[in-house]
Amino acid sequence: MLQRTGRERSSAAEHLLSMALTAHLVDRATVAEGTGAFTFRLDGDMPFTAGQTVDLTIPSPLYSDEKGNARTFSITSSPADLPSITIATRLTGSAFKRTLLEAPIGLAVEADGPYGSFTLHHKASRPALFLAGGIGITPFRSIIKDATERRLAHRLVLLYSNRTRGNSAFLDDLDGWARANANVRIVPVFTETSGFVTGEIIKRETPDLASAIAYAAGPDAFVRAMRQALLDAGVDPDDIRTEEFPGY
Ligand SMILES: Cc1cc2nc3c(=O)[nH]c(=O)nc-3n(C[C@H](O)[C@H](O)[C@H](O)COP(=O)(O)OP(=O)(O)OC[C@H]3O[C@@H](n4cnc5c(N)ncnc54)[C@H](O)[C@@H]3O)c2cc1C
Repeated sequence: MLQRTGRERSSAAEHLLSMALTAHLVDRATVAEGTGAFTFRLDGDMPFTAGQTVDLTIPSPLYSDEKGNARTFSITSSPADLPSITIATRLTGSAFKRTLLEAPIGLAVEADGPYGSFTLHHKASRPALFLAGGIGITPFRSIIKDATERRLAHRLVLLYSNRTRGNSAFLDDLDGWARANANVRIVPVFTETSGFVTGEIIKRETPDLASAIAYAAGPDAFVRAMRQALLDAGVDPDDIRTEEFPGY
């Protein structure tokens, strides 16, 4: 398992529930500019809750560098897709990601998980506000897909921030779930034209903000900015949950 910090350090209970399996790459797709989605078929059971992560290790990578052959990813598919899981990532050119991009379909990886507690709260009377920064969409895609498939009663608002439409992965999927599920609202924010998400925008776009639980995921700087924007909008710090993606 990869080294974690703070809240992300896995608990002993999580260890009892997690396991390492072999998985094989079965599909690869471009989902936005410089962004790939990779689907693996697990060779065993790995039940997970939408929003959780998996640690992937490539035992025989095509390329190697000092950053190693293992990474943590949010699972962006939903539990209904098991025994397949999909992850999505910006293709930064690291050895790990060049291997994902260029290895033949069938590439074997080790999948260790699930980990993490960045999952939807249980109380459906409280709406969820999701703030996704770029590739930080991955856990929210899983949660929104799962909530639609299981007809959960939660109201879900996603403010999805990217530089441009071309950078925005999975917009069509998200729009489809918003059409299928009246509880889902998707608000794309293209920072090149609209600027960054602020406390004002959060207040404007989120009815019932006072009762909402807020979730922010993405690069560290994005998550830090969103925490401040939420505080500016008057959200109680106890109602803010975050997932930082290092390496961006
Ligand atoms: C909970 C969680 C969920 C994530 N979900 C996604 C996702 O869905 N999509 C995505 O693209 N990326 C995700 N990441 C980030 C991912 O693990 C990579 O760090 C990132 O994709 C950059 O990888 P790289 O190979 O491009 O960058 P590089 O800069 O080459 O490598 C990343 C660097 O970060 C280090 N690192 C990896 N994990 C951690 C960690 N937990 N704490 C501190 N340092 C670490 C590595 O050792 C490496 O040095 C997630 C990370 C975490 C912790």
